[in-house]
Amino acid sequence: MNADPSCIFCKIVAGEIPAKILLEEDDLLVFHDIQGQAPTHLLAIPKRHIATLNDVAQPSDAEAMLLGRLLSACARAAAKAGVEDYRVVNNCGEAAGQSVFHIHLHLLGGREFSWPPG
Ligand code: 5GP
Ligand code: ZN
Repeated sequence: MNADPSCIFCKIVAGEIPAKILLEEDDLLVFHDIQGQAPTHLLAIPKRHIATLNDVAQPSDAEAMLLGRLLSACARAAAKAGVEDYRVVNNCGEAAGQSVFHIHLHLLGGREFSWPPG
């Protein structure tokens, strides 16, 4: 598995840092954000290290499949968490709010959300 030893999410995948895991599949994990911004705040990550969405602008077939599975895993995780309406967000790059450079989808639910986001 492609991992970056300095990456906090790779450490979660490796079991070196604990996380409240909601869903585990072959190639992905969904766990609770440590600093939830909503009653339900989950992070969906691939097990392999990909820094940002820009790294998969031209995905291989396997990467395209993985990205699709990551998005649909949000629906599986939302059902498991009991939320029907939710927001899925990817922050790509520092100015967009990305602080962990291992690609992840935020799944937020359990409250009202405004648009546009801040
Ligand atoms: P970003 O800012 O990159 O879009 O999102 C990173 C998210 O990871 C933040 O919401 C932050 O709270 C969460 N996070 C950072 N470190 C940890 C950790 O060690 N465990 C968990 N569960 N979440 C983390
Ligand atoms: Zn990583």
